Amino acid sequence: MADTERWEPILAAVGIRATNQRLLVLDALAAHRLPVSAQRVHAELQDRGERTGLTTVYRALASMTEAGLVHAFTHAGEAVYRLCGSAEHHHLVCRVCGLVAEREEKDLVDGFRAEEVYGICAACAER
Ligand SMILES: [Zn+2]
Ligand SMILES: [Zn+2]
Repeated sequence: MADTERWEPILAAVGIRATNQRLLVLDALAAHRLPVSAQRVHAELQDRGERTGLTTVYRALASMTEAGLVHAFTHAGEAVYRLCGSAEHHHLVCRVCGLVAEREEKDLVDGFRAEEVYGICAACAER
């Protein structure tokens, strides 16, 4: 069972319906520190005994990405997804492990808005 009470208001805030598939996908995304692929989410749902198909997982991710609730990235040539906060932000993305941090834009330089800024996270830098 998905954590309906946790996700319903979040989905309502972005104006999309809280379908069971979306709730399950959000549960899976929330359990990860790093962005994850649709295949990974699908495999985890299978492990939990959910019979959600891969296409359904893709569709749930696509609708929530479109709604701005989930943000999509590319890591190692693969599309990966992350459940982001609601405040407007851009991303700091670790080039090595794919970790994403959110940063609020306060100082615009010449009106330029950053989307993704790539670098190396603290843990990878120490290695
Ligand atoms: Zn984000
Ligand atoms: Zn890293």
